[in-house]
Amino acid sequence: MTEFFVVVAFALAAVLLRAIDGRGFLASAAVGFAIMYGGGFSWFVIVAVFFTLGVAFTLYKYGYKRRMGGAQEKGGARNWPHILANGGVASIAAMWNLTSPGTVPAVIFLGAISTSAADTVATELGLLSHSQPMLITHPSRPVSPGTSGGVTPLGFVGAAFASLVIGIMALAVGVLSDPNLVLPLCVVGGIFGAVFDSLVGATLQRKGYCVVCLKPTEALRHCGERTRATQGKWYIENNLVNVVSTVAGALAAYVTLLALAPLI
Ligand SMILES: [Zn+2]
Repeated sequence: MTEFFVVVAFALAAVLLRAIDGRGFLASAAVGFAIMYGGGFSWFVIVAVFFTLGVAFTLYKYGYKRRMGGAQEKGGARNWPHILANGGVASIAAMWNLTSPGTVPAVIFLGAISTSAADTVATELGLLSHSQPMLITHPSRPVSPGTSGGVTPLGFVGAAFASLVIGIMALAVGVLSDPNLVLPLCVVGGIFGAVFDSLVGATLQRKGYCVVCLKPTEALRHCGERTRATQGKWYIENNLVNVVSTVAGALAAYVTLLALAPLI
C-alpha cells in the first residue's frame, strides 16, 4: 500500500510542478507502478533520480533556451507519449524482473534509464553550449540548436555526467552490488544510447516544417495541423527514436556485463 501512495504522490507532484502535463499523470503512474512492483523501491529511486535530473536540466536557464529557440515546448511539461517512450523499456525490464528476478533484467533496466538520463541531460546542456552544434554524421556541418543529430562537447559531458549519476545512485541503493560492474555498464550504456540517438536523429529521423507558421519542426503536429516532412522517414519521430535508443543502451549495458563478468 505504501508503494501505491509513493507512486501516486510522485506523479501528482510532477503534474503540480508542471514537469508533466495532465494526461502524462496516468502514463507516469503506469510506469511508476511497473517499476515499483517489478523492481522494488531501489529501482523506483533510480527512476526518480532520472526524473529529477530531467526536470532540473530542462528548467535550468529555460528562458535563455526559449529565446534561442531550442527549449522544450509548453514550459518543458512532458506528455504521455514522451513518458512511455522513455519509461517503456525500463517497465518491461521490471515486469521481466517480477517473473524471473536477477542480474540481467536489472542491467537492461539500468542501461535503458542511463540512456534516457544521458540523452535528456545532453540535449538540455547542449542547448547552453557556446559552440554551435555539429551534425554527428558530418562534424563540419553546423545545425541550429535543438536539431536532432546535432552534438556539442558540452552535451557529451552532460551524457557522461548523467549516466555516472545513475550508476552512483544504483550503487548507493543496491540495484546491483558490485561497483566494478555497475559504474561501467551505466556509463557505457548511457553514452552508447545517447550517441545512437544522435546517429538516428541525424539520418533517419523525420524533419520538416509547420504548414501554418512555416517554422522548421521535428514534431508530427504544430499549430494544430499535421506538419510536412522534408527529411528522413516520415514515421520515425522523436519518441520512436527514444524507444529504439533505450533498447540500444540496454543492449550496450548487457554487452558490458558479458565483457566484465569473467574478469570479476
Ligand atoms: Zn506552427
